[in-house]
Amino acid sequence: MTLARRWRSALGLAVLLAAFVPLTCAPLAAAQAVPTPTSQPTARPPEPKQAYTLPPGELAKAVALSRISDILAIVGSLWGIAFLWLLLATRASSSVESWTQRIARRPWLQGLIFFALFLIAVFLAGLPLDVIGHLASRRYGISVQGWASWLGEEGKSLGLSLLVGAPLLLFFNWMVRRWPRRFWLCAWLITLPLMLLATFAEPLVIDPLFNKFEPLQKTDPALVQQLEKVVKRTGIDIPPSRMFLMKASTKTNGINAYVTGFGPSKRIVVWDTTINRIPDNEILFIFGHETGHYVLHHIAKGLTLAGAGLFFVYWGCAVFAGWLARRFGPRWGATGLASRTGFVVLLLTLSLAGFLLEPVSNAVSRHFEHQADIYGQEAIHGIVPNPQKTVVAAFNALGRAWLSNPHPNPFFQFWLGSHPSIQQRATFAEHYDPWKNGGHGKYFMH
Ligand SMILES: [Zn+2]
Repeated sequence: MTLARRWRSALGLAVLLAAFVPLTCAPLAAAQAVPTPTSQPTARPPEPKQAYTLPPGELAKAVALSRISDILAIVGSLWGIAFLWLLLATRASSSVESWTQRIARRPWLQGLIFFALFLIAVFLAGLPLDVIGHLASRRYGISVQGWASWLGEEGKSLGLSLLVGAPLLLFFNWMVRRWPRRFWLCAWLITLPLMLLATFAEPLVIDPLFNKFEPLQKTDPALVQQLEKVVKRTGIDIPPSRMFLMKASTKTNGINAYVTGFGPSKRIVVWDTTINRIPDNEILFIFGHETGHYVLHHIAKGLTLAGAGLFFVYWGCAVFAGWLARRFGPRWGATGLASRTGFVVLLLTLSLAGFLLEPVSNAVSRHFEHQADIYGQEAIHGIVPNPQKTVVAAFNALGRAWLSNPHPNPFFQFWLGSHPSIQQRATFAEHYDPWKNGGHGKYFMH
C-alpha cells in the first residue's frame, strides 16, 4: 500500500528522462492487482482465517477496482511507448521539427518549441487514461476530489513539465549534439546531481503546489507527544520540525504517510485522513514504519541504486537508439540521434527501458518496505500492549481505506507492486514476534 510511497520517487527518477514520458495513472497507483481465479471443489476443507480480510461487499469492490487499476497501469505504460513510436512512424515528429526550423531562426528556440509541443502531445495522449483513473477512484469512494480541482492539478503538472521538462530535454538534446559518441556518459554524470536536486527540492517546491502542509506540532501537539515515545525508543533524533501534516481529506478517503526529501529537506509526512480514522496505537506503527525508511536511509540508498542502474540504462539505450536511428531513421525523418526527432527515438528507448525495469525497481522497493515494516513493528514493542495485533489491525484499516484486493494477481503484484501485498504484510506481522523465547529484534535489541 502507500505507506511512504513517496520515497520511491528516488527510484522513479531512475529513468529521469523517461520520467517526462510516463502515461501511467497515478490516482490509482495505490491499489493493486486482479483476483486469482479460484476453483471451487465441492468438499473443500475450511480455509485458515487470513490476516487481511474485507467484508463481502467491499471485497467485490476491491477486486473490481484492482482489475481496473492494474489494466490502467499496464495499458498506460504500453500506450506511452506506442505513442512515441506513433510520433515517429507517422512522421509527426519530423514534420514538427521542420516546422520549428521555418518559424524560428535560433536553434535553441526551435528546440524549446519542439520539446514544449512534444510534452503537450504526451500530456494529451495520457489524459483519457488519467480521466478514467480519476473516474474509477471517485466511483469507488477513494477520491473525493472534484473535477475542477483535479483538472487544475493536471494543468499545474503540465505547466511544471513545460517549465522544467522542456529546457531539460533541450539540454540533454544539446549533449547528444556536442558529444555524439559519449553523450550517454555525460548525460549520466549530469543526471546524478539532478536527481539529488530533484529529491531535495520536491518537498520544498513541488509538493506545496499540490497540497497544504503544516507542522504536525502545530496542528496536533498531542499526537506529536505520542510519537515522541517511538522517537525516544528508536534513539534517533527526528525533531518535530521534520514532522508534517498534509491536508489530504479534501481530496481522498485514503490513509497514508510517507518520507520524502533529502538532507536538510528530509521529513515525515502524515495525511490528516490517517489521524482521525485509526487508533493511536496503529498510527504509532505507521509512524514507526516511516521512521524505518528515515533511519535506514532508504531515499539515499534508492538514489544510489538508481544512479548505478542508470549508467547501464543510458548506455544500453544509446546503443539501441543508435541502431533504431540507422535502421528506421530515413523512414521516420530522423537525421541521426542528434536531431530533435532522433532525440525522440532516444526517449522511446528510455521509456521502453523504464517499463521493462519496473519489476526491478519495484522489487527493490518491496524489499525496503518489508524492512520498514519490521522496523515499525519492532519500534512499537514495549509501547503498545500487543504489536502483532496492532500491526495486523493497521494493515486491515489501510487495506479497507484503499480497497486493496486481499488476493492480488501474482503477475501484476510482481510487475507493479511497490509494496508487498497487504495480505503478505499482515500475515508477516501476525507471526512476527522476535522477542518470543528470549530473542531480540532485527533493529532493536531490547
Ligand atoms: Zn513504506
